[in-house]
Amino acid sequence: MNNPDGTLLRGSIADNQFRFFACETTAIVQHVRDIHDLYPLPSIFMGRLITAAALMSGELKSHLSEVSIRIDAEGPLKGGLVIASKEGMLKGYAFVPQLWMPENRDNLKVGKALGKGTLTVIKQTWLNAPYEGKIELLTGEIGHDLAHYYLQSEQIHTAVNLGVLIDKKARIRAAGGILIQALPQADKKLIAQLEENLINTPNISDLMDMGLTINQILDIFVLKELPWQISKTTPIKFQCHCSKERFADVLLLLGKEELQSMKEEISPVCHYCNTAYTFSKEEIEELIRSLD
Ligand SMILES: [Zn+2]
Repeated sequence: MNNPDGTLLRGSIADNQFRFFACETTAIVQHVRDIHDLYPLPSIFMGRLITAAALMSGELKSHLSEVSIRIDAEGPLKGGLVIASKEGMLKGYAFVPQLWMPENRDNLKVGKALGKGTLTVIKQTWLNAPYEGKIELLTGEIGHDLAHYYLQSEQIHTAVNLGVLIDKKARIRAAGGILIQALPQADKKLIAQLEENLINTPNISDLMDMGLTINQILDIFVLKELPWQISKTTPIKFQCHCSKERFADVLLLLGKEELQSMKEEISPVCHYCNTAYTFSKEEIEELIRSLD
């Protein structure tokens, strides 16, 4: 399964008092689970992180912009990193992909396995210096932490609901998320009401698994009688731009001496997509010659 797709929706609510981003990421999360051989808990964690990054990518303006979201924590799950671009391309990895927790409901709690930690957001644009915001994890369940990040670092009232449903065989049955932001002109009462609606929405992935689309979930459970409209629907997908040429460039940076010390073939692996690139002894010698 190459570059599986998902969908990102953007739109506005109640005459532009709010904007929302909503996405369906089931196939992407399944792909990440497969390439990194993620165990159940890291699958749920990465599914939420990927979905969060996909939602955040909706606000990027330039084609060369990207946003990364990174969790660093003290617990056994340790954290992970996901990068999303304006073009809807996502890539990422878990720091402990094969963390095994004996099966019980409590052990599938991401926050418990992360423990104390931080959430860091870096927004890169082509023209400006990168923006970085960092917060302490509140619950470690990701959705709540992301809402807290927006309020604390960007002073934007945000409600987030992320869902990843996994079956007994560690297959991703459904994954998706909704993010709603209050714009400066938003009515205070309406902010509270929407926050409550989103919190009270049954698990998004359970609803998707029952056959509901993200649009229907928004309509029935979150926005109810409020007027809303979708302004844009874009495809999102897992994609890594690594290549053997890029790895060769990195090897060249090591310098002649370091390369000469490599006596056998080497196979560096891309963190993001787990692809290995083998360089034979002859290819390493060729790299050394190119440095002359
Ligand atoms: Zn890669």
